[in-house]
Amino acid sequence: MLDTTNARPEIKGVYIGGRWRRLDREFEDMNPSDGSLWARIPDGGAPVARQAIEAAHDAFAGWAALPFQERAGFMLKCADIVERRKDDFIAAARFEGGGWHGKGVHETLAIPEIFRAAAGVCYSPIGEILPSLHGKVSQAVRVPMGVVGVISPWNVPGILAARQFSFAMAAGNTIVLKPSEETPYMGGLFFAEVMEEAGVPPGAFNVVTCSRGAVGEVGDEMMDNPLVKGVAFTGSTAVGRRIAAKCGAHLKKCCIELGGKDSLIVLEDADMERAAAAANFGAFMHQGQICMSVEKVLVQESVHETFLRLFADRASKLKVGDVADKSNVIGPLINDRQAARVKSQLDDAVGKGAKVVVGGGVDGRFVEPTILTRVTRDMDIWREETFGPVAVVTPFRTDGEAIAMNNDTEYGLSSGIMTADEHRALSIARNLRTGMCHVNCSTINDEAHAPFGGVKASGLGRYGGRWSMETFCETRWITLDRGGKPFPGVF
Ligand code: NAD
Repeated sequence: MLDTTNARPEIKGVYIGGRWRRLDREFEDMNPSDGSLWARIPDGGAPVARQAIEAAHDAFAGWAALPFQERAGFMLKCADIVERRKDDFIAAARFEGGGWHGKGVHETLAIPEIFRAAAGVCYSPIGEILPSLHGKVSQAVRVPMGVVGVISPWNVPGILAARQFSFAMAAGNTIVLKPSEETPYMGGLFFAEVMEEAGVPPGAFNVVTCSRGAVGEVGDEMMDNPLVKGVAFTGSTAVGRRIAAKCGAHLKKCCIELGGKDSLIVLEDADMERAAAAANFGAFMHQGQICMSVEKVLVQESVHETFLRLFADRASKLKVGDVADKSNVIGPLINDRQAARVKSQLDDAVGKGAKVVVGGGVDGRFVEPTILTRVTRDMDIWREETFGPVAVVTPFRTDGEAIAMNNDTEYGLSSGIMTADEHRALSIARNLRTGMCHVNCSTINDEAHAPFGGVKASGLGRYGGRWSMETFCETRWITLDRGGKPFPGVF
């Protein structure tokens, strides 16, 4: 049954210095299920970004000087407001983001957790007392940097944006957030409404939205403006490289979380039903549009057929269609560009001899959950990120072979290992070139206080808990001499 409570938000403008501002230019924010107009969004350019940066800069001294418990208090208020407004967020996650109802529910549970974890780290130590060669009081102390520019993606916009800015803010930094043009409300303006209601001081949190045509100039302003001291980016590897290079040129700190090509390794002694469920959730949750999605399932040869049957059975039961119907677990891909990318990988693989076990159909932005076998290294789908509901299942003989197959990609974000043998699992885990590895679970795991991030082309730096604090602070060495350090006699 179609849900007609397609509640649309009132878009009040960009949010700068605690004020909403309408802009002359707007762009269309589309519902990816049916292509209808969902909202009209302010289309900012470099001058608007500059004003937001200046507002954040002006607010920095006051925000950083607040007692830490007050900053924590604002984070806790934000958590409560998101909980109260969960239905608004879920509607946006469905009709702006194209996500299944349950995916929106998941985000509304995780976002308050992130705000509370950010509040929690305010109460942890901010430095260390070091021994001193000369009896000084010698301290290493963590201080906020200033304005942090946040650029976030469209796939899990609530969690990912909140993860990027909440810890940085709790540490005393002020924020300019530029959400993705595909989800400017749920990844940006929604949070401005939350911050406004929480009474966060003007300028501590700012949101600038813009169309795809303007992201270059807005992004450049955030990188090039000397008032921005740090950048948090989550998105594609191509854009991430560009941003890291720019930050490098300006000697600016950045945390860059990028794409993945994650494997789930299924060993012969694994619980096969749990392995099939982990693969099904990992590959098809949110149409495979999660950086940690299971894109390759590597299965020990002796259980390959059994596993494939169970996995295919589960995948074929997932309903595809407009997410206005809550029973449709597989919604549309976010845009035509993503759908074309997935179709091109499928065509390339099938053209070179891959076998479609389940699915394979592409209807506009809707792609059926698809399982491929007989995939070889010369196919694009073996190494390139798909970011769609397609999983490759490949047999292996030895643990060494599974490790080599996992590592055979430029990416290194997450990985999963299914087995009853914990010792064997940890020994494989040590050899996987990924930032994260989960034994007896899918590759998709994210907890607000744990270190999240990848290696190789999957990124640089870590989000989560105290790792976020280290990312978005400077460590200073401050000493207090009590007359103990002698100078050479000639001076
Ligand atoms: P994208 O790189 O196209 O866009 C990400 C953000 O960058 C958006 O806000 C976009 O507007 C902005 N952007 C684009 N070009 C820019 C430029 N020249 N300068 C400044 N900003 C620019 O990525 P996407 O399509 O939104 O997201 C999908 C990608 O993100 C996938 O590759 C996925 O794996 C990755 N991702 C990674 C993680 C992670 O934590 N590792 C999480 C989610 C998504």
